[in-house]
Amino acid sequence: MSNSELLACPFCGCEASMHEDDEGRYWAQCDMCQARGDSAQFVDNAEQWWNMRATRTQLDELRAALVEARKWLCPPGPPINPSHPIGQTILMIDKALGVTSHE
Ligand SMILES: [Zn+2]
Repeated sequence: MSNSELLACPFCGCEASMHEDDEGRYWAQCDMCQARGDSAQFVDNAEQWWNMRATRTQLDELRAALVEARKWLCPPGPPINPSHPIGQTILMIDKALGVTSHE
């Protein structure tokens, strides 16, 4: 079975494989750390479960990195200057994070 549709493991970044039990249920599992996704009746669903979790974990990490970067870019103090490159970067980050409280 091809593993090309499965994203890398959200915990260790290694490749995952699709598995099937005796009752014909499928689940994706990391080849390295054995993390496993929810099992499903159809292989497509098991694949979706796995990839959704991998994507969500990636997004959480990106969000955490942005929050951290923003703290360094913009310590509490003067208001954001939208005509300055750093101000523009902060506004881009806030847009990505869903922060709208600049007014
Ligand atoms: Zn893993």
